[in-house]
Amino acid sequence: MDVIEMEFRRAMKNPGCPICRLVEEFEKKEIETILYEHPNDPEVRKSIRKSGGLCTRHAWEVLRLAFSSPLLGPHGVSVIYEDVLRSYLRGEETTEECLLCRLSAEKERILIGSFAERLSKIIEAYESSPSIICRRHYEEILKLIEDESLKARFSNVQRRKLEELLDRLRGFIESFDYRAEKKPKETERRAILEAIEFLAGREAGPQCRVGERRGKRWPLRLK
Ligand SMILES: [Zn+2]
Ligand SMILES: [Zn+2]
Repeated sequence: MDVIEMEFRRAMKNPGCPICRLVEEFEKKEIETILYEHPNDPEVRKSIRKSGGLCTRHAWEVLRLAFSSPLLGPHGVSVIYEDVLRSYLRGEETTEECLLCRLSAEKERILIGSFAERLSKIIEAYESSPSIICRRHYEEILKLIEDESLKARFSNVQRRKLEELLDRLRGFIESFDYRAEKKPKETERRAILEAIEFLAGREAGPQCRVGERRGKRWPLRLK
């Protein structure tokens, strides 16, 4: 078992999408590295300047992380944005996409490819895990699998997981009925989070995916 397979197995122990989760962890590490080690690195600064100071989501994520970590604090992020603000006042053009969007898109591509490559080894663990690969990552992985029987197995597993999620979501909705006798279970309370995570992904990875989604059809139809 290689390190990547172990990472997937670890990420699958949680509800939600393992690929999104690993991208999220990667982003957090990247942000920490930038804030902790490289606020004065000319290449990093240039890249952040060229994108006008990261995209909206990543800019706020950087600030949130900076303030929430006693190790980081507001110094690094202030150094970075002082540079961006000066460049704006000099009238410099922004030409690049957000550095973190770029890095996380690369990481995401690698993860999708690695997951597809190892699918035959990890499908059993996926099947018995509480995780559900999000819609977009599922489609990307599916495109890379050539073995038809593995493809069919993967899509069956996915369908079963989603049907089970739908049941839990229904259970949660029913618990609001005044005649309901039972309180919702924890797994039912969590269902709405998992449904959104499946459909929209976690709040991680490259920000703008509108174009990719347009005109897409459902690969799996639920009864
Ligand atoms: Zn995902
Ligand atoms: Zn971004």
